[in-house]
Amino acid sequence: MDRLVSGIQPTGKMHLGNWMGAVHNWVKLQSTFRSFFFIADLHSLTTIYEDPSQLRQHRIELAKDLFASGIDPNMSTLFFQSDVAEHSELHVVFSMITPLPWLERVPTYKDKIDEIREKDLNTYGFLGYPVLQAADILLYKASAVPVGKDQLPHLELTREIARRFNHFYAPIFPEPSDMITDFPSLPGLDGRKMSKSYGNTIPISSSSHEVNDLVRSMLTDPARVRKTDPGHPAVCPVFSYHKIFSTSEVISAVEAECKAGQIGCIACKQQCAAAINLQLDPVRERRDQWTDHAVAEALQSGEVRSAIGL
Ligand code: SF4
Repeated sequence: MDRLVSGIQPTGKMHLGNWMGAVHNWVKLQSTFRSFFFIADLHSLTTIYEDPSQLRQHRIELAKDLFASGIDPNMSTLFFQSDVAEHSELHVVFSMITPLPWLERVPTYKDKIDEIREKDLNTYGFLGYPVLQAADILLYKASAVPVGKDQLPHLELTREIARRFNHFYAPIFPEPSDMITDFPSLPGLDGRKMSKSYGNTIPISSSSHEVNDLVRSMLTDPARVRKTDPGHPAVCPVFSYHKIFSTSEVISAVEAECKAGQIGCIACKQQCAAAINLQLDPVRERRDQWTDHAVAEALQSGEVRSAIGL
């Protein structure tokens, strides 16, 4: 079987954007690839290095989210990145050969520095994040990496690092191809991209009451003040959620009623929250069955080592 590798950061709880965008895809792919999924605890230190006190528990909670979402320990290998020291070792080797301008031109580097003002991201760790990502991928000689479109420059950098290493030393690392996740990114509560860094997420471990409250706080069409004002669902983040979580009948009705000024945003949000809760209910049930101990038993860093021949 071809190998596939992908990771997710435990910076906070897994949110609907991760769930719909990446994890659903992982669950589908695990039956066709020899899959390695890791909880990228070292990566999360790039942004939470000042206070990593929650990291240990966040890793466990994220593993519960992944198992509850359908990652099957009998089909896939799930592990903590820091449990496999070879990720860090290969990162050091790649750091030696990666030209600085390659890192400085990565678009997400500048974007995040501009967007996340409340943290000091002027560190080597943050700049070198894509080098660690290259090590994460190339260590497994993976043929495929499921990525969102915003991660494509990182994957291209991984290929460049592989080429440079192979040119200097020996043809060791294959160049991985991308598998673009065919799913539109979910807006966050404030209309920006849903991201833990922005604090605008809906965690999948939220109770139904919490989902109701979070959806109620969402931004809507700003031009709509009264219920009778004609709305523009195309610019409303709540409608983006309807398109993903609601039935086609509800989507059509909401769209028509919003445009005609016949439905209030509060009622519309209640329907939206109900649709999200319907999909999260079985995940919540499965998640409740995963104890910390069961997670520790199901993580497989030992199996990773043998799979990569260490
Ligand atoms: S009715 Fe619904 S879709 Fe229309 S603006 Fe309000 S929340 Fe958005």
